[in-house]
Amino acid sequence: MAAFIANGLEHVRMEVARACRDARRDPAEVTLVAVSKTFGADAIESVIAAGQRVFGENRVQEAKAKWPPLLSRHADIKLHLIGPLQSNKAKEAVALFDAIHSVDRASLCEALAKEIDKQRRQPILFAEINTGAEAQKAGVLPQDADVFLAACRDKYGLTISGLMCIPPLDEAPGPHFALTAKIAKRNGLKLLSMGMSADFTTAIALGATHIRVGSAIFGERAK
Ligand SMILES: *Cc1c(COP(=O)(O)O)cnc(C)c1O
Repeated sequence: MAAFIANGLEHVRMEVARACRDARRDPAEVTLVAVSKTFGADAIESVIAAGQRVFGENRVQEAKAKWPPLLSRHADIKLHLIGPLQSNKAKEAVALFDAIHSVDRASLCEALAKEIDKQRRQPILFAEINTGAEAQKAGVLPQDADVFLAACRDKYGLTISGLMCIPPLDEAPGPHFALTAKIAKRNGLKLLSMGMSADFTTAIALGATHIRVGSAIFGERAK
């Protein structure tokens, strides 16, 4: 198990390095977020032992149950929330996570602003863009993004540092990554959270600064 996971991580690192070379980008600009959702402490420990320090989880409850003991053993780990966040969990999310990739509505902005102020913690925030305008998916529609980002800043006093997207499963990801990069650029945002196991090299070519990679490191998740 540990050897299998270390192999997955090593392979992903090599692919990241190659994609950066091809795109003439500095690998230091690309943060690998190892998505550990559904995996237990033993699997996570083997990835930590291989030097990985940034991890992603998609549920607040799962992260709260799993991570505090791991964080107390490894003080330098950064934890990212990559999944949808309910406003009533903003308090726990601000307390636990160093970055939140799923800011996508006014009520959540309000709850986050309040907790950031109260806890004096400043997680890195990404606004999620629903680039495929999929009804079942979270995120701000591309045509509403500029107004939403202005409201984050002017109405809620939130510092949004970047954008995140999850392209539709049945479409080529490139145009979705390019659209996300274009919206970020015109809004002066530097960070781009895009690319998963199947498409992180494409995302790097199109400017990703944060790639969220789960199964290519940990193996397939149990359903
Ligand atoms: C699960 C998940 C990932 C990782 O997916 P893989 O295909 O396993 O790399 C990335 N982003 C989000 C938002 C996820 O929920």
